[in-house]
Amino acid sequence: MIAIKTKVTVAQGDGIGPEIMEAVLRILDAAGAGIEPEFIEIGERVYAQGLTAGIASSSWETLRKNKVFLKAPITTPQGKGYKSLNVTVRKSLGLFANVRPNRAYHPIVKSLFPDLDVVIVRENEEDLYAAIEHQQTGEVVQCLKLITRPGCEKIVRYAFEFARANGRKKVTCMTKDNIMKQTDGMFHDVFNEVRVEYPEIESDHMIIDIGTARLATRPEDFDVVVTLNLYGDIVSDVVAEAAGSVGMAGSANIGEQCAMFEAIHGSAPDIAGQDIANPSGLLNAAVMMLQHIGRGKVAEKIANAWLATLEDGIHTADMFTAGKSREKVGTQAFADAVIARLGQEPGYFQPISLAESGIKPIEVQPYERKPVDKQLVGADIFLDWWEGTPNELGRLLTQLAGPELKLKMITNRGVKVYPNGQPETFCTDHWRCRFVAVRSEILGEEKRYEPVDYSEVLRLQNRLYQSTLDIIKTENLYYLNGQRGFSLGQGE
Ligand code: NAD
Repeated sequence: MIAIKTKVTVAQGDGIGPEIMEAVLRILDAAGAGIEPEFIEIGERVYAQGLTAGIASSSWETLRKNKVFLKAPITTPQGKGYKSLNVTVRKSLGLFANVRPNRAYHPIVKSLFPDLDVVIVRENEEDLYAAIEHQQTGEVVQCLKLITRPGCEKIVRYAFEFARANGRKKVTCMTKDNIMKQTDGMFHDVFNEVRVEYPEIESDHMIIDIGTARLATRPEDFDVVVTLNLYGDIVSDVVAEAAGSVGMAGSANIGEQCAMFEAIHGSAPDIAGQDIANPSGLLNAAVMMLQHIGRGKVAEKIANAWLATLEDGIHTADMFTAGKSREKVGTQAFADAVIARLGQEPGYFQPISLAESGIKPIEVQPYERKPVDKQLVGADIFLDWWEGTPNELGRLLTQLAGPELKLKMITNRGVKVYPNGQPETFCTDHWRCRFVAVRSEILGEEKRYEPVDYSEVLRLQNRLYQSTLDIIKTENLYYLNGQRGFSLGQGE
């Protein structure tokens, strides 16, 4: 029994949340986990008080103080006014890594891939989840995909450190950098830089589309997968589904200061209050939490008792198979069965063996900011325009561009439509017009662009404005450390 108790923030959540949390806390208590829960309220009732983030401001203090958060699922209200509590908590507490171990428990839980054992390490703070969205014209909305070097370094290093700490053999990076050469390209570049520091771990890269297909059809070929936020969201569910155990997986959200642990499933309102929900996902999250706080041996004891319970055929309704399972039990009876097996090991599955220190500490080397040589070489000015053809707009902008700048091209939805566009290209009311220094021509297309002073861009914007053109935004074009920091237009 552990003498000093660790305070952990606990939220019981909505739907099945309170029932599965009660079951899990009883198991932790019986195992002598040494946890002292400090409860906060999140979710439906908090949203109903008009707090659109689903959490009261006083709860942040508790979260910050205890640093470890065991969270039951909540019901996210529908409607544009509400913010996702999960995204808010992850970003506010800097929980940059989402770690989802997935394994098959075949033949107890049927899986097409009995040897599946894959950990998805998903970047948790950046990408399209910044949710910076704008409607810019009558026809076009945009969502900014923000990828940062510190963000990439942190998550990629975390994946390798996780692999090293857990005896994992391979880390696979998945991106779409054949299309998004700047954003996904940076993630892949950082992966290539960091992988050389871990020569004992095999590493490779796959384009996300074929990578996802392979995860769905040959998951045994993978060990640790590291990827960007949106892809990670999708592939985690693909792998959990392939494992056959969506209701059993837990996940960890890890930051430099704080960490949050939860089941991967939602609040299951359809079965709430009936004592039939499976507490296994939240229990496995709690096992990850115990490893995180350096209680590896208690985590091991609970994990083995849980496996022994599954092997003995004591199953909640979602796992129950007539003829194979021995007894169908409710949430609390399942917890009692796990408690009764504390100290036992599974016979069929390999017993879990964890170091007392658990997976802690996975420390990621702090990011070191390096000086950047940044040179402005032009601007993409975006216009809302629908009065004519690409050639008409091209002629108009060519007249307005000089004397310092010249129109290099116009694209519509990323495809070059001027000069020499294809007549078949469909055009919306959203035009990206690229201006560069008049002198840049001297050096040719693929060489360095000539520098531009920002005042020239401002004067150009003013001329466009005076000509009643509707500027919706401007993106500056830079060279950084001698490298082009912007993509070319499709067909440029
Ligand atoms: P869900 O995961 O709650 O339920 C999907 C299906 O799986 C349902 O049939 C449910 O009965 C079943 N199920 C889920 N967990 C189970 C368990 N432990 N035992 C047995 N059966 C289980 O997904 P949903 O219905 O799409 O979402 C319900 C609510 O949960 C929504 O408001 C959603 O926004 C929210 N949600 C919250 C989280 C979270 O808090 N982390 C995650 C996902 C969804």
